[in-house]
Amino acid sequence: MLFHEKRFGNWGESATISCVKRFLALLLPGGVILFAAALALRPRTLPDSMAPFLPTLPYTIAALGLFLGWFFNCSRVVFAILILAIADRVLLQFGAGQTPGGDVGRIVFHAVALLLPLNLVAYAMIRERGLLNLRGLVRVLPILAQALLIALLCRPGQRNLAAVLWYNFITSPWPAWTPLAQPALLAFGAALALQAARFMVYRNALESGFLWALVAAFLAVHGARTGWVATTFFSTAALILVVSLIQTSYRMAYHDELTGLPGRRAMNEALLKLGSRYAVAMVDLDHFKQFNDSYGHRVGDQCLRMVAAKLGQVSGGGEAFRYGGEEFSVIFSGKTVKEALPHLEQLRGTVEASGFVLRGRDRPRKKPAKPKASTAPRNVVSVTVSIGVAERDARHEGPDEVVKAADRALYRAKEDGRNRVRS
Ligand code: GH3
Ligand code: MG
Ligand code: MG
Repeated sequence: MLFHEKRFGNWGESATISCVKRFLALLLPGGVILFAAALALRPRTLPDSMAPFLPTLPYTIAALGLFLGWFFNCSRVVFAILILAIADRVLLQFGAGQTPGGDVGRIVFHAVALLLPLNLVAYAMIRERGLLNLRGLVRVLPILAQALLIALLCRPGQRNLAAVLWYNFITSPWPAWTPLAQPALLAFGAALALQAARFMVYRNALESGFLWALVAAFLAVHGARTGWVATTFFSTAALILVVSLIQTSYRMAYHDELTGLPGRRAMNEALLKLGSRYAVAMVDLDHFKQFNDSYGHRVGDQCLRMVAAKLGQVSGGGEAFRYGGEEFSVIFSGKTVKEALPHLEQLRGTVEASGFVLRGRDRPRKKPAKPKASTAPRNVVSVTVSIGVAERDARHEGPDEVVKAADRALYRAKEDGRNRVRS
């Protein structure tokens, strides 16, 4: 599914659509997987015929996640699955807090419940630096150090120190609603809040995946209390990460990284799905080579992003794509050229009116509290686009012919002096 902002003529409608899309981006796929797993894997609800497959399922999911994480060079997912697997095995070994196995069981359970969310959120935040290199391997060390720490806490002489794990900051008004002690509850709360904030900032499938994996991990450590097997939820957390990773790689294949717009591959697929009536516009930045030569390639990239943002908000239900280089396209499904023209004219005017604000070296990046009165003109560079548009008709029957006709119209727009729309 392609999640990108598309604004329609009516602001109210666009705000609603954008809200729904944000909600869906948060819910899919993690929330739905967790909900489905919680329903389908309830204790004693599965048919007996499924029973033989269940023991191997966690291993299959973990192996798939580790393989895909390595294949897509996403060490965050690899580490997160390792952490989930270790937590699962350790809790199984020590009775998941159900039959605490004496003091050692209690210490291990509370230590895992405290460290699990902190580790998940920490590995969600690491910068991608590859996996099978020195940097990647060094990142395993904190996990080993924590195992050592827990082992030390379990020594008979350290029981006073271990008691920190179930220290009560406040007297809980609801005793016994959870087997978790307050430090672990605090850690889960902080990790969930931090991950939710990361999702709000980055809005991508992996951030949403890590958020739901944290929720699943929270349910897993409650397993013993509710009769669920903790492994069920740990496997669900791993599955959520696997699906989020697949969704991310799909998005990378279909979206242009620089501008965030869907790319050429997505456009080709969109062209195949069109009905009998549609218009295609080709949009090209004017004198962009000169822009790059004057201000540098990096500023050129920022300019492309600015124009792409305007294109993403094209009215009339147009869907914008980055065709390649400084060329974009807009598909109007169900519209004729005559119907698309006012929206394209509006788009051309919006780009022209916006201009591109240069961020000079001397210009402060943050607005000062008391700005100095300045008479210097803002460093705005004029940016314009030329647009050619064509529709499907008797002369241009297939999408390829329509795109070629739009390209010829674009050429005419350039010849006529640029910064104009031609059909
Ligand atoms: P015209 O008005 O005829 O379109 O002139 P133009 O200079 O825009 O066209 P031309 O095809 O000569 O140059 C296109 C330029 O776009 C050249 C290339 O460096 C620049 N360009 C293409 N892709 C990118 C990109 O991703 N980033 C940057 N910064 N520049 C790009
Ligand atoms: Mg150009
Ligand atoms: Mg060009």
